[in-house]
Formats: sequence, structure tokens, C-alpha cells
Amino acid sequence: MPQDFDYIVIGAGSAGCVLANRLSENGRYRVLVLEAGGSDRRFWIRVPIGYGRTFFDERVNWRYQTEPDDGLVGRRSYWPRGKALGGSSSINALCYVRGQPADFDEWEARGNPGWAWRDVQPYFERSECMIQADGRRLGNGPLLVSDLRKEYHPVSQQFLHAATQLGLPVSDDFNGARCEGVGGYRITVHNGLRCSAADAFLRPALRRENLQVLTRAHATRILFDGRRAHAVEYVRDGRLQTARAHREVILSGGAINSPQLLQLSGVGPAPLLRRHAIDLVADAPAVGRNLQDHLGVDYFYRSRVPTLNDELHPWWGKLWAGMRYVCTRRGPLALSVNQFGGFVRSNPGLERPDLQLYFNPITYTRTFRNRRPLLNPDGFSGFVLSFQPCRPTSRGHLEIASGDALQPPRIFPRYLSTNRDIEDVVAGGRLMREFVRTPALRSIIEAPAGVDVERLSDDQVVEDFRQRASTVFHPVGTCAMGPDSATAVVDNELRVYGVQSLRVVDASVFPAVTSGNTNAPTIMVAQKGAECILRERH
Ligand SMILES: Cc1cc2nc3c(=O)[nH]c(=O)nc-3n(C[C@H](O)[C@H](O)[C@H](O)COP(=O)(O)OP(=O)(O)OC[C@H]3O[C@@H](n4cnc5c(N)ncnc54)[C@H](O)[C@@H]3O)c2cc1C
Repeated sequence: MPQDFDYIVIGAGSAGCVLANRLSENGRYRVLVLEAGGSDRRFWIRVPIGYGRTFFDERVNWRYQTEPDDGLVGRRSYWPRGKALGGSSSINALCYVRGQPADFDEWEARGNPGWAWRDVQPYFERSECMIQADGRRLGNGPLLVSDLRKEYHPVSQQFLHAATQLGLPVSDDFNGARCEGVGGYRITVHNGLRCSAADAFLRPALRRENLQVLTRAHATRILFDGRRAHAVEYVRDGRLQTARAHREVILSGGAINSPQLLQLSGVGPAPLLRRHAIDLVADAPAVGRNLQDHLGVDYFYRSRVPTLNDELHPWWGKLWAGMRYVCTRRGPLALSVNQFGGFVRSNPGLERPDLQLYFNPITYTRTFRNRRPLLNPDGFSGFVLSFQPCRPTSRGHLEIASGDALQPPRIFPRYLSTNRDIEDVVAGGRLMREFVRTPALRSIIEAPAGVDVERLSDDQVVEDFRQRASTVFHPVGTCAMGPDSATAVVDNELRVYGVQSLRVVDASVFPAVTSGNTNAPTIMVAQKGAECILRERH
């Protein structure tokens, strides 16, 4: 195998798959992609509902645990991350949300020229093919995003009625001109199959002779010639190997692994690297800092009317849904568990939505099959109502636990460490209470199946949130883009400060988390990042 390339991309996730495609497109450059996980050719990755199976599956998931967190009364959080071609886009819950235009205007206002909404909108559009409910296609991109609202469970209509009764706007498309209102999520699914970043961007490029993708190749160190990144060490089949990059190394390992690999390679906070006896290449204090994540909480209800539990809990229901899926590629197996939700203002005086909602026509419990944990629908009719504050202000950090690249880093989310974040939780709890008091939800709620938000005071809502809230799987910001190397890791062209020929292109460069789900904006970052790379004069 030739070990000389122009570009080496580390990680074939949402961002890495886009880069693999774009950098190999013109045929001029030899591109190597190193992916620590294996193939994504797995039934439960392809089938949308397989989310419940891959959620804990160590064969496709890094299964991180955070450090005990004071904000969550000392609890550790479980953080799944994809470990296969497609990365987290192969195991995510499929919701496709660009974010609010003001999110990106804020990125620019933080000192990142070229990242305002007017600048990034074309990069979203470049990726997308929006498949409307009537089959019409908008956009020529390879990423298939479907409007499957007509197939969603009918009980979800009650959520829309409830929102209308509260005077909240209804939205046809969260990716339209305004990301506001309640409605059905568009999902990265087509013809009953998940459309991950690997499906959309990597697979079509695999036939190119100038692109080589190595799975089960775990990058352990970026090697520098002085301060120029020129090679990558990786472990494959138990052997340590080296590949050289004549132009650039691009780190797309995601918000946990990218800062980890930078630190392991000598680019990070000097005191931390000294502690672990790692030779310093560049003192980069912001590597691993500025960690942000969305935190959400679920309220479970027993329902008077049937929900997806009735279809998917009994063995014969599973069998029927399975047969329906195999024969028609439709039915609950072809959909996300996140069906309805939205973006709302907790207070009409706010400039833009501050809460994201979910209404899932299913409740589930963690069970075991063949000693593997999985999420299994409950044996009663039930649904979930959830909220997550859109723009948390708490910042955590992560750091290597040792110089061993195969050992997970220590993650300190520092959830709920600002008053502002606690106020957002109070606002969310109040809105949840209003929701469950609407005639529309009253008519279907038999009883709470757990905490009854209606009975909680504001303080108790916060206390309960600390006890039960969990990540919504959107860690970002650990190699943040920004104007100076004291507080940021990359510049607005995603070049790592203090070194040459090295970029980070993935969710870790977000200066601030977007107000919604993070897959779409990560893919956008990679589209724009690819252009920055191809523009660079070498
Ligand atoms: C369970 C779950 C549900 C989610 N639901 C949604 C949703 O519904 N909608 C949404 O928009 N977003 C969702 N997200 C978030 C979204 O999928 C991620 O933000 C996005 O995929 C991040 O992309 P990335 O390229 O930064 O990292 P990833 O896609 O995670 O890719 C990183 C890749 O790098 C590889 N890698 C890491 N380290 C190394 C190394 N040292 N050597 C080689 N390879 C390496 C990893 O194996 C992985 O394949 C969800 C995420 C999870 C985990």
C-alpha cells in the first residue's frame, strides 16, 4: 500500500465523509481516510429505528462516560458517539435541522468572517436534496432528507393541537425561512433507509482511484516536522503504521476525539501535556475547552389512545412491523423515534426561539438481549414530551487521561453551571406544564408514567432536571473557531493555530452550539472547510 498522500483525513464521520468526497473529486490529489471503526453495512445502521440497537452497541459506538458532574448531582452521563463509516451520522436519531440563521450570524460576530448565515446557507444547500411529501425533490445534493410527516403516528396530531391551543405557531419546515414553530421533523431517510454521511458522500466516491479509505485504522498521533504536520501514525491489525501527507492533515474525529488527538500529538495546554510527558509542539490552551452540549429531559405519559408502543412492544407487533418493513420499506421501522417537536419562545418577548421540543409517540426502557443493552418499547400505550434549552451558556472541557491513545479522555461537561442555564430549565418546565394542561393533551393522558411535571414547583423542576436530564448528543466547541489562539483552536479557515498544514473540520470547531441538532451544521462546516482546503496555496 502506498503510504504517501496529499491529504490525510482522520475520521469518516459526518464531516470526514464530505471531505473524502470533495478532496478527491478533481482527481488531482491522493486522499487517505483513516476510520477507527468498521463498515457501516449493518442492518441496524441502515434501518432507521435501529437507533435503539446501536445506542449501546460497542461494535459501532465509542460509548463514552463523562466524569461525575456537579450540575447533575454528581452523575456521570453516557455519551454515545458513532464508530463506523458515517460516524455519528450512522447512529444518530436522523433529525435534519440546519439551525437558526442567527446562530451563524453569531458565529461571525464572534470574530469569524465568512460564517454568517448569508455565507453558510449555500453550503447547506449544496449537500441537500429535500424530498417533499409528494415526492418532489428540492435541491441536487446527495444527502436525502425526507418529509415523512404523513407517515408519523396519528397520536402526534394531539401535540400539534396542544401547541395551537397554547397559541404557538405551527411550522411546515424547520429548515425554512424561520426555524420557529411546532411540526414534524424532516429526517435523513429515503425509501426506508438511513442516509448517513457515508451513504451521501463517501460511497459515491469510493470508486475513485485517488481515494483510499482504511477502516479499523485508529490514528494515534499526528507527526510534525518542526511545526508542520506531515504524517499520521495509526494502529491497524495490531500494527503501528505511518502515512505521510504532503499537503495537509485534517482532523475530523468529532468533538471528543479531535481535541484528544491534538493533545496526544503535542498540541494542547502545556501544563496538561507536561503532566502526561507529551512533547510539546505548540502550547494551545483552548484545545479541549469551550465544550458545549444540549441537555434535555423527558416526561413520560401513559396514553388513553394507542401509540407506537402498542405496535412495537408485543412480539407479534414487532413481527408485523418487520414484515411490513421488508415488503414495503414503510411503517415504524422506517422512521425516527423523534417525530414531532419544534422550536418555540418560552416568552413572547424573546427575539428568537430558546427551547427545542420533542413529542415522541413511544416510550422505552433499557433492556438486554444476548447480554447487550438496547432500548425496548414499553408494554403500555405511552408517549414522551421533552424539552431542551437551545443555547446553553455553560462550558466544560475535556483532557487526555494519559498518553495512551486508546484510552478515553476525561470529559467534564460542567452542565448547568450558569444561572442563565438554570433559568432556561425553569422556562422549559413551565412550558411543559402548560402543554400537559391543554385540552388536547389532557384528552389523551391517562397518567404520568414517572415524574409529573404538573405537580413540580420551579425549584423542583430544576432539581428533577439535575436528577434525570441527559445529553441530547450534541457536544461541540472543543476545537473552537475564533480570532485568537488564547481562546480558540482554529482560525476562520479552520487552520490550527501555532502549527502548519493541520486543520480541524468537524463539530468541534463550532464557536457556539447551534440552536438545534448538529448533524446538518457539521456537514455544512465540512463543505465550507473543503473549499478552504482546496483554495490553500501549497
Ligand atoms: C445517539 C446520537 C443521536 C444523535 N441524533 C442527532 C439527530 O437526530 N440529528 C442531528 O442533527 N444530530 C444528531 N446527533 C449529532 C450528530 O450526529 C453529530 O453532531 C455529528 O454526526 C458530528 O459529526 P462529526 O463529523 O463531528 O463527528 P462524527 O460523525 O462522530 O465522526 C467522527 C469519526 O471519526 C472517527 N474517529 C474518531 N477518532 C478517530 C481516530 N483517532 N482515528 C480514526 N478515526 C477516528 C470516529 O469513529 C467517527 O467515525 C446525534 C448523535 C448521537 C451520537
